[in-house]
Amino acid sequence: MTTLRILYRGPLASCNYDCPYCPFAKRRDPPERLRADRAALERFTAWVRAADEPIEVLFTPWGEGLTRSWYRTALVELSRLEHVGRVAIQTNLAARLDGWLGAADPSKLAFWCTFHPGQTTIERFLAACTTLSRHGLRHSVGIVGLPEHHAAALELRQRLDPQVYCWVNAAEGHTYSAAEEAAWTAVDPLFGYSVRPHRSLGAACRTGADAISVLGDGTVRRCHFVPEPLGNLYDGSWQARRGPRPCPNGVCDCHIGYVHLETLPLYDVFAGGILERIPHAFSADRGR
Ligand code: SF4
Ligand code: SF4
Repeated sequence: MTTLRILYRGPLASCNYDCPYCPFAKRRDPPERLRADRAALERFTAWVRAADEPIEVLFTPWGEGLTRSWYRTALVELSRLEHVGRVAIQTNLAARLDGWLGAADPSKLAFWCTFHPGQTTIERFLAACTTLSRHGLRHSVGIVGLPEHHAAALELRQRLDPQVYCWVNAAEGHTYSAAEEAAWTAVDPLFGYSVRPHRSLGAACRTGADAISVLGDGTVRRCHFVPEPLGNLYDGSWQARRGPRPCPNGVCDCHIGYVHLETLPLYDVFAGGILERIPHAFSADRGR
């Protein structure tokens, strides 16, 4: 049976950081939005618990989820379900880590961690990465490829455990000269996949069949970048429209999208770590 990979994004839009390149910087959610986000996540978790197919989940909140107890609870609970192969979250790693990680299944829980220079120190960030490693938890680490981040990126790569992959996201609206591309490729050998948008119109993409995007109200879309809904998760209506179809967008420029393009070899490159962005070459499971 194939695995259904789900990218989940609830209403949460607040963040404890103030990154100058982000529309969610220091945004606060009113209490009613936080309550709605928690209820939506608990509903989603219940749906996954009852599902009858192999599932992997990546939480992709607009803001920061790991500082909220309900995301930590969902990560632990989902990691312990037999039919869930992986549960991961995109995070700035600012949240408290000790005390709850030990309750999760370390073979299933994973983290997609972003270092934001100016918002925390490299020491604090690396200490959080060390905590993940100490718990035997898979994680990738990365940075936005802005020119002013390059020195920090080199230091991050140098001080990180060599077994941990360090990715670089091409900065939105920024074009890279050949020399700049080479400089960033020294940090992330796979930067070439991020630096140029992938032409995707009419291309075969696994989203809609083996991967879907789910919003807090259960709206199912093939991916975060194609707004047309397939149906709803909770009434099962999306299943009637589940299936392969070509991409309707001109380009796909975000890893969480283009990793699923069948025209790229990324299911092989990231085998075993597709959702949390860990290349097979960096996976502790390789060779098993
Ligand atoms: S940590 Fe992420 S969500 Fe928060 S402000 Fe920075 S980029 Fe935005
Ligand atoms: S190629 Fe990208 S934009 Fe197109 S359907 Fe796939 S994930 Fe979505």
